[in-house]
Amino acid sequence: MRCPFCKEDSDRVVDSRSSESGRVIRRRRQCLICKRRFTTYEKAGESFKLYVIKKDNMRVPYEREKVIGGLQKACYKRPVSAEQIQQIADKVEEDIFRNFDKEVSSAFIGESVMKHLRDIDKVAYIRFASVYRDFKDADQLIEEVSQTIQEDRRVRQPKLFEG
Ligand SMILES: [Zn+2]
Repeated sequence: MRCPFCKEDSDRVVDSRSSESGRVIRRRRQCLICKRRFTTYEKAGESFKLYVIKKDNMRVPYEREKVIGGLQKACYKRPVSAEQIQQIADKVEEDIFRNFDKEVSSAFIGESVMKHLRDIDKVAYIRFASVYRDFKDADQLIEEVSQTIQEDRRVRQPKLFEG
């Protein structure tokens, strides 16, 4: 597999994981020349590129690192572990590959990130949503926040026994 950074064709597989449906195998690879890591996606033995359609209709190759980067920013100083961030990215990729083969809109990825982040940390979710949804004004943001808080209260049940 050609390294996207230095273009050398020499790598080792660090980690291999298939999506929930088993349709797509994701491999983390490390370039043996420049030591950088990259991700490849394979379907039935062939590797392919997934493209993201942005708001302006430009297509760019999908990069897991971008999803991770967005999550890290949203989760800054929040009690969300690096492993949880990876797990959210896994779930997002499962959502993508369950629905799309070659192209996916950036809007779909954003909504998927929000859906899974919401289950993990409400503050991080609001942060991500406020950047992502590009709130037009403060009212919209406040509405989103109060909705989330209300749902959170509804979901949370008092626990009789801990542990
Ligand atoms: Zn390299």
